Amino acid sequence: MSNVSTSVRLAVATLGTPRIGPRRELKTALESFWAGKIDETALLATAAELRAANWARQKARGISVIPSNDFSLYDHVLDTSVMVGAIPEIYGWTGGSVPLATYFAMARGSEGEGEACAHGHVHHHHGVSAQEMTKWFDTNYHYMVPEFKKGQTFAVSSTKPIDEYKEAKALGYQTRPVLLGPVTFLKLGKSKDASLDALSLLDGLLPVYIEVLKRLAAEGAEWVQIDEPCLVLDLDDAARQALRHTYDVFAKAVPQIKIMLATYFGDLGDNRDTAVSLPVAGLHIDLVRGADQFAVVVAKAPKNLTLSLGVIDGRNIWRANLPTLLNKLEPVVTALGHERVQIAPSCSMLHVPIDLDAETALDTDVKEWLAFSLQKMDELSVLGRALAGQRDEVADRIAASKTAAAKRKESSKIHNRAVTERMSGITDQMRRRHSPFDVRAGVQHKQFGLPLFPTTTIGSFPQTADVRKARAAHAKGTLKDADYDQFLKEETARAVRWQEEIGLDVLVHGEFERNDMVQYFGEQLSGFAFTKHGWVQSYGSRYVRPPILFGDVSRPKPMTVDWWRYAQSLTKRPMKAMLTGPVTILNWSFVRDDIPRSEACRQIALAIRDEVVDLEKEGARMIQIDEAALREGLPLRRSQWQHYLDWAVEGFRLCSSGVADETQIHTHMCYSEFNDIIDAIGAMDADVISIETSRSKMELLDAFKTYHYPNEIGPGVYDIHSPRVPEVGEMKHLLVLARQRLSDAQLWINPDCGLKTRKWDEVRPALVNMVAAARELRAQA
Ligand code: GLN
Ligand code: ZN
Repeated sequence: MSNVSTSVRLAVATLGTPRIGPRRELKTALESFWAGKIDETALLATAAELRAANWARQKARGISVIPSNDFSLYDHVLDTSVMVGAIPEIYGWTGGSVPLATYFAMARGSEGEGEACAHGHVHHHHGVSAQEMTKWFDTNYHYMVPEFKKGQTFAVSSTKPIDEYKEAKALGYQTRPVLLGPVTFLKLGKSKDASLDALSLLDGLLPVYIEVLKRLAAEGAEWVQIDEPCLVLDLDDAARQALRHTYDVFAKAVPQIKIMLATYFGDLGDNRDTAVSLPVAGLHIDLVRGADQFAVVVAKAPKNLTLSLGVIDGRNIWRANLPTLLNKLEPVVTALGHERVQIAPSCSMLHVPIDLDAETALDTDVKEWLAFSLQKMDELSVLGRALAGQRDEVADRIAASKTAAAKRKESSKIHNRAVTERMSGITDQMRRRHSPFDVRAGVQHKQFGLPLFPTTTIGSFPQTADVRKARAAHAKGTLKDADYDQFLKEETARAVRWQEEIGLDVLVHGEFERNDMVQYFGEQLSGFAFTKHGWVQSYGSRYVRPPILFGDVSRPKPMTVDWWRYAQSLTKRPMKAMLTGPVTILNWSFVRDDIPRSEACRQIALAIRDEVVDLEKEGARMIQIDEAALREGLPLRRSQWQHYLDWAVEGFRLCSSGVADETQIHTHMCYSEFNDIIDAIGAMDADVISIETSRSKMELLDAFKTYHYPNEIGPGVYDIHSPRVPEVGEMKHLLVLARQRLSDAQLWINPDCGLKTRKWDEVRPALVNMVAAARELRAQA
C-alpha cells in the first residue's frame, strides 16, 4: 500500500480481533500449561507474543484505532468477573489480585475438564468448580456466566486492561482499551438467589469501573471502548435507566476519558433514543445486521457524537462490496465531517477466522468471495482512505472488490437451476406426513412390536483414540481407503453386537465414520466449502472450523445409506438411521448472505429429504434427524422469534415428510428448555423426540405436559457430560418423575445425548444399568 500523504484521515477501527493465533498458538500454549508441560511464565510469554503480533498486523493493514484488552486467555466475560472481583466463594479467593490458578478454576474447575457434546453444546463438569457457560448472544462463542450473590461487593482485582494498555504503549501503539460495559455484564450474570436483581448491584460496581478508567487515563488512554451489546436486546425501563445512570456517572467521574459505546449484533430498535442520548463521545452501531438504522441514527445523533459505522460484517466471512458501501457512506461522511466518523466492522472480529491467505486448498473462485479478519482490515482501510479523499489511490482495490462481487453473483458454482426449480415446486403436501400422529403411531407400533419403554441411544458411541488416529491417518493418506473402511466396519460391527448383547431395543451404528455432525454432511453436499485453518473460538481453548455454505445446496448421491445398510445387515433389531437436520447445519455454518437464511434452510431440507427417502427405500424404518441447534438459532429480539420458528419448523417438516406412515421419524435436541418454543416442537410433528432432561430432574418436561404433547418422547435419563456411571435406581427415579408428566405409552428411555465424548468404560456400565432400569419399570407397569 502506498503511503498516506494527505492530512485528512478517517479513523478505522477493528473493535477486537481473534485471540487464538493464526496457527492456534494460544490453544497449544494453554493445553501445554494445563498438562504441566510449560510454566506460567512461558504461557504468559506466548500470550504477549500473540498480542504483539495482533497489534502489528493491524497497524500494517492501516488500522488507526487499535484495541487493547480484547485479548483473553480464556474468555472476556470471565476477565470482567475477575477484574471486578465477582468471584464466588468456592474458589477460595480472599482478595488481592486474582491468581491464574483461580482464573482457570473458574474457567474449567480445579481438576475437572470441560466437556463438549458436539460443537456448540458445551458443559463444564465441575461438580462445584467451574462457572457455568452459555452462548454469547446469538453467536457460537460461549462465555463464563458471572455469578452474583446477595450483598455482592466489587473491587478492582485485576489490572489486565491497564497492563495490556501499557504493554501496547511500550511497543509504540496508542490503543483504545476495550471493556465489557457494566450493564451488559450484570445482565449476563446470574445468581443462585432468584430474588436478586443483578441491576441492583450497579452502584457497587460503577466505582470499580471508574477506578479502571481513571488508571487508564492516567497511563495516557484517550479513548476507551465500552461494549454494551445489551442495547440490541429487548430491554425494560429499568435497564434503560441503568444505562443512563451508568454513563452519566462515568461522564462526571472521568470526563478526561472519551467513551466509544459499542453496540452490536443488531439494530438498536426501541433502545435507539436511549443510546443516542447517552453522554458519551462516540457510539458504534452495527450496520450489517442493523442496516436499516443508518439514516435514523445519523439524523438523531447529537452534533458532538462521533459515530462508528460497523459496515464490514464481523460475523461472517463474505468479502464486502466496497463501491456499494462507499456510495452509502460518502454522503454521510460529507454531512457529518471526517472527525465525527469512524469505520469499523459490525462487531469484534472474534467470530471470524484470521487469515484467508492461509487457505491454499480452497476453490479459487470461492476464495475470491471471502474475507477473514485480516482481509476485513484491508477492506476497512481501503474504505477509510477512499472516504478521506484518496479514492484514486485505492481505485484498483475498489475495482477488484466490484469485480469479485459481480463474479460471485453470476457464478455457476453458486446457482444451480435444478435447485431453483425444485424450490419453486415445493407444495404444502410435501410438508405434511400422510396421516396424523395417532394413525402413524398405530401402524408403527404394530410393525416394530417394541416393549413398553423402549430403550435406545442418541447415535454416537465413543470416538476413541483409535478412531481418531485412523481418521487422521486416512486424511493424511497413510491409511488406504479400503483399510480405513475395514476399520470402521469392525468398529461398527463391534458396537452393534454389543448393543444386542446388553439388550437395547433400538440400535444405532455408532457414527464412527463422522468427524462432526455438520461437517460430515457438508462435505457430501454441493454448495459447501471447508477451510484448513479457519478456526474460530467456541469456548476457552476449543475452536471450531465452521463449513462455508456458499451456493445452492444439492445432494449428488446418498450420504449415509451404505453405513445404515451395513449396520442393519448385522442385526434383526431396528437400526435407527442418523442424520443432521437442516436448521442445525445452517446454524453451525457460515451462511451465504445473498439469499435469506430461510431459503438456504429450505435447500438443505430438500437435500436431507432425498436422503430420508433413500434410507426408507433401502428399508430403514426409523430415521433420526438431529436438530441440536434449533433453539439456539432463536433471534435476539422476541418479535423476530415467530418468523424464525416458522421457517425452522417448515425446514424440519420438509425434510421429514417424504416417507410413509410406517417410517418412524425421530429427532433429538440437546437441551430441554422448551417453554418458549413448545408450539414449534409440536408443529415439527416428529414421531419421537429425545431431549436432555437428566440434570433438570425432569422438571423441564412440564412444558410438554402443559402443552399436552401428543407424540413420543425420550427424556434423557443420564448426564452424558459426566464420566460418572449412573445407578439403576437413579434412572428409575428420574423415570418415575417422567411418568408423573407423560403417559407410559409416550415414553422412550435414552441418555441425554450422543456418547462420542465418553469412554467405553463409562458407556458400557451406564447403558447396562439403563436397560436394567427399563426392565424393572416394565415389570412394575
Ligand atoms: N446423533 C448425534 C450424536 O449422537 C447427536 C449429537 C448432538 O445432538 N449434539 O452424537
Ligand atoms: Zn444432543
